[in-house]
Formats: sequence, structure tokens, C-alpha cells
Amino acid sequence: MALEEYKEKRDFTSTPEPAGEVKDSGLNRFVVQEHHASRLHYDFRLEMDGVLKSWAVPKGPPEQPSVRRLAVQVEDHPVDYVDFAGVIPEGYGAGTVAIWDHGTYRLLARREDRLEFSLAGERLQGEYLLLHTDGKNWLLMKRGPKK
Ligand code: MN
Repeated sequence: MALEEYKEKRDFTSTPEPAGEVKDSGLNRFVVQEHHASRLHYDFRLEMDGVLKSWAVPKGPPEQPSVRRLAVQVEDHPVDYVDFAGVIPEGYGAGTVAIWDHGTYRLLARREDRLEFSLAGERLQGEYLLLHTDGKNWLLMKRGPKK
């Protein structure tokens, strides 16, 4: 199941993206990749279940509490994608990918419709929340300081 959609969408004879496989590194990494595709977006990825759970965030992850950002879930990516930066040639996802932030996270709560985690990145720090709304749509937000 896990990486079938990822592999189906790509031709690894032409894309520099990693073919990869499901593997548990136990490192709990996250990455945000700035992706200049047909439309600029930021790919937010959490290492989980041996893959990178992935969301495309058109406006990028919020750095301030109380800002809600649409995060559209996309196909799981291989954990090797966590280091990927480069140019994807014509075809699926064509455009330049740069690492916008990376680090590790700590899972605080996980339900089918809700993920809570604490990020330790270079840009993103603190508690975040992903809330499922409908279909592939989620909301990504940053938690304010506890009162
Ligand atoms: Mn993308």
C-alpha cells in the first residue's frame, strides 16, 4: 500500500527523486520543502509509519499562532525524500525543490482526524496541530502559549 501511489506517479528514469522504500529510521524527522511547481507550495512532511506523511501547504506553514493554513494531504513519500532538493524535470511535480526547514518532531497525540506534535526545526518551533476537515483537506496551525 504505502508507496504505490508515489511510485506510480513517477518515472525514476527521468526524475532525480528517490525511489525509496518503507523503512523505520526511528528518527522522527520532519521537513518542509519549498516546491516551485506550476504553483508554488510548501510540502510539509512528517516521518511516521516508515514513510513521510505529506501535505501540500499553498501558503506555507504558519509561524504565528491563530493562523490556519490549508494543508492538502498528498501521497506518502519515502523517508529518503527528507533530504531531497533539486530540479524535477517535466512531468509530475515539475519544478525546483528546496529545503525550507527540517528537524525533528515529538508526537503529542494522534487520532484519525487530528495530529498534535511539537516541532524542533530551524524555522518552525513549538506545538502544532493538523486537523482533518474533509476529503484530503486538513488545517495546519500553531498552538499559542499555554495559559
Ligand atoms: Mn510538492
